[in-house]
Amino acid sequence: MTISPDSRIAVVTGASSGIGEATARTLAAQGFHVVVGARRLDRLERLAEEIGGTALELDVTDEDSVDAFTTVLPRVDVLINNAGGAKGLATVAEAVEEDWRWMWETNVLGTLRITKALIPKLIASGDGLIVTITSVAALEAYDNGSGYTTAKHAQAVLHRTLRGELLGQPVRLTEIAPGAVETEFSLVRFDGDRERADKVYEGITPLVAQDIADIIGFVASRPSHVNLDQIVVKPRDQASAGRFHRTTDQS
Ligand code: NAP
Repeated sequence: MTISPDSRIAVVTGASSGIGEATARTLAAQGFHVVVGARRLDRLERLAEEIGGTALELDVTDEDSVDAFTTVLPRVDVLINNAGGAKGLATVAEAVEEDWRWMWETNVLGTLRITKALIPKLIASGDGLIVTITSVAALEAYDNGSGYTTAKHAQAVLHRTLRGELLGQPVRLTEIAPGAVETEFSLVRFDGDRERADKVYEGITPLVAQDIADIIGFVASRPSHVNLDQIVVKPRDQASAGRFHRTTDQS
């Protein structure tokens, strides 16, 4: 990786689509050298070329992959823990263990692996920032969502714990908890079922990935004594995780 020694480096996990991709563009426009990680390398390479960043394959569920990704980084100023998602919508009585494992591995242990590996570099930067994308599912429980809500609660508590553990170190921590954002999220949740995914956003004006990227850009550009601890952001049409104003009938 050839990066000028004066460049500040921002790492964005899950940058091959949605919130991560938009965030990589925003941070690059703010002058960061952005290192983008995800499993779909072809998409990352196109993005890195566009923004003058670096594309590196990353599977946050795989210890060796995280190791290879984090050891080549010469320095890290900003870490955006964004890789994650949901699988299915099932009651506890019908929970699918394989889906739970995917959600816990990706959102919780994935965030743990990357963060743990990069803490020394974030501290060494002298002015580090960790942003973790949790969800309104990290603040509320909702029916049929337990695999995702438990994973997002755990990911959020990991992040909030670190806020205390890093007190006194030059690292800020921000949790962003979005409501409905139209990305590939629902397509992944419903295993590629486009019709079912589209229904999630039917009759509302959802957030878009750039709305979250704008917030991250704001957080990253505050002076270093200002720590935005937690930001909850929802579309105007959404009052809670499961309560929407829709112009269409969902029944
Ligand atoms: P998305 O478009 O599906 O993006 C998810 C990203 O995570 C993709 O780039 C995907 O890349 C990456 N990813 C998944 N598994 C990975 C793994 N094992 N290793 C590395 N990267 C992995 O969805 P999004 O909405 O932008 O989601 C981003 C984050 O926001 C997630 O943490 C999600 O839980 C959270 N969030 C989303 C919403 C929403 O309504 N969309 C609301 C609240 C919170 P590859 O498949 O190429 O690896």
